[in-house]
Amino acid sequence: MPEPVESALHDAIQHANPDALRKILQQLCIRNDEAAALTRSTLMDNIDGGRERERYETCKHCKAEYDVTKNEKGDCVYHPGR
Ligand SMILES: [Zn+2]
Repeated sequence: MPEPVESALHDAIQHANPDALRKILQQLCIRNDEAAALTRSTLMDNIDGGRERERYETCKHCKAEYDVTKNEKGDCVYHPGR
């Protein structure tokens, strides 16, 4: 088990704005292979032929974010689609 993040740092992460968190994560992925692997396995989905796609998409109909690996034929998990 990894060590829990120090309390004050945990709070700072909780309160940080998403753009700042994106910049930090991108820097971590450049500098650290384990961070890059964790980010890749969380945000990307392996598809045929060793290609990858983004795992989370925004539904064109209801604007909800959904996991493409838990979705059939492009339907949003919140409603049937076309
Ligand atoms: Zn939807």
